[in-house]
Amino acid sequence: MISYEEAGRLLGLAAARDQRIVGDADILAWHSDLNAAVIAFKDADAALTRFYAVEMAGLEPEARRRVTTPDVISIARKIRAERLANFVYDPPPGDEDPDYLARLRGQIASTADGTSPALTECPALEGGPHPDVVKALAQVGRSTPDVSSENPVTEVRRAGPLGVCCPTCQAAIGRPCKIGGFDEKRPPRQLRTPHAARTRVANGGPAQLESPAEIERRRAASMVKLQELQERETSGE
Ligand SMILES: [Zn+2]
Repeated sequence: MISYEEAGRLLGLAAARDQRIVGDADILAWHSDLNAAVIAFKDADAALTRFYAVEMAGLEPEARRRVTTPDVISIARKIRAERLANFVYDPPPGDEDPDYLARLRGQIASTADGTSPALTECPALEGGPHPDVVKALAQVGRSTPDVSSENPVTEVRRAGPLGVCCPTCQAAIGRPCKIGGFDEKRPPRQLRTPHAARTRVANGGPAQLESPAEIERRRAASMVKLQELQERETSGE
């Protein structure tokens, strides 16, 4: 509750800023308005400061006005709400918290009053991105069917590794991966399991994990191996 003296002090502080002349009727009106709205002296004082230092300071001189009790009440409530914006309950040490409700009320009241300091840290956001964002990100880098062309796309994108061209064996969409086929006598064999790179690309990963030079080196090495095998076979070993 605000006392009659405190209401007089508030009006004195207002008069110091806006040169008003304060009478007994003004003090009575402020006393009853602020108490009806359950505003504490400290909050009313802070509201008065914000009214002149922030709200009126941002206006052109001709737009400025004298503070009224509705101003003080609404700003005081805003200040209390701001102090509680990041309120976090501080539990007692240990597992037991028998006076939870009383403790919570006390902490809320002292935080709103400004008696105990408001949390200065903003709460950290936890968890990954929204599922919609994850879904949209999965489409990044994928080709978009050209629906604007005269020939509408009839090919339906298949799910899984067969839905993309294989970066390893160049198997087309919908065709299984293949191995071999380096000469006519040995036709390519179909693979049951797609190449790892194809699965990776279908899942939105990179086509190549290694550098092209490294892949070329491996390809050359496997060609040498294959030639050795073929020579051994033809020589009847
Ligand atoms: Zn393949």
